[in-house]
Amino acid sequence: IKPRYQKPNWLRVKLPIGENYKHVRSLVDTHKLHTICESGNCPNMGECWGAGTATFMILGNICTRSCGFCAVATGRPEPVDWDEPQRVAEAIHLMKVKHAVITSVDRDELKDGGSTIWYNTIKAVKALNPDTTLETLIPDFKGIHEQIEKVAEAAPEVISHNMETVERLTRQVRIQAKYRRSLEVLRYLKELGVRTKTGIMLGLGETKEEVIETMNDLAAVNLDVLTLGQYLQPTTRHLPVERFVHPDEFAEFREIGYSLGFDYVESGPLVRSSYHSEKHVVPGYGR
Ligand code: SF4
Ligand code: SF4
Repeated sequence: IKPRYQKPNWLRVKLPIGENYKHVRSLVDTHKLHTICESGNCPNMGECWGAGTATFMILGNICTRSCGFCAVATGRPEPVDWDEPQRVAEAIHLMKVKHAVITSVDRDELKDGGSTIWYNTIKAVKALNPDTTLETLIPDFKGIHEQIEKVAEAAPEVISHNMETVERLTRQVRIQAKYRRSLEVLRYLKELGVRTKTGIMLGLGETKEEVIETMNDLAAVNLDVLTLGQYLQPTTRHLPVERFVHPDEFAEFREIGYSLGFDYVESGPLVRSSYHSEKHVVPGYGR
């Protein structure tokens, strides 16, 4: 059931229509792909799909975890589909996207955490689309270095891992994850020489001080790109929206982020971690 609350006017967006939107829709369907745009009921589908971009979700569409904000189904996932990397690469080729975002469900039941499919997907996309840049939004791989290294080895331009919320609310928001473990994933990626990125949702009950504290923790692991957006409740079974953060407050966080030394800060009510992702690969773009 969709929640019934009155959205402030800065969160109202156009419905997805238009030729490009239909083209992306049909490619996603014919290649049997999953997108986080659809699973997450993202409000930006009109804009992103209309511009020919989408965020592909690999390793199936059933997750072993059950985060309180996420609309992806939880359960026992299907067996690994070894053709999926090639299909993703082909769809990206047909969509002629210059920059693609790939994410995955968590596959905690797999020995390799899904890192082999991750590696194969990045390699297949790069082989078929040598000029396309890539952001890969990865799970925490339970912090296992070997699996994180495997993704880094395939050399996407940006590797992101979302903190999603402040330390105090992490248990409530993503029960199987740990705040410090996620920070360590970002720290280790940086040690491997990767351009790193993370996203935080606001409106889940965090205080302003806690957001700034989290930003300080992220600055301490030399994070490059930070996104801050408004949390929206996908259904009434998910965590409620505690408040709608005003655009001016988002602007304030952007300034604080730059003063802490992040290379790029994307902060606004409609921001999702994959929103405007093409700009996040370019060092110095946000300044
Ligand atoms: Fe998809 Fe991300 Fe755009 Fe939303 S912001 S429609 S999830 S690409
Ligand atoms: Fe959703 Fe990711 Fe949490 Fe799975 S791990 S429930 S896909 S946010």
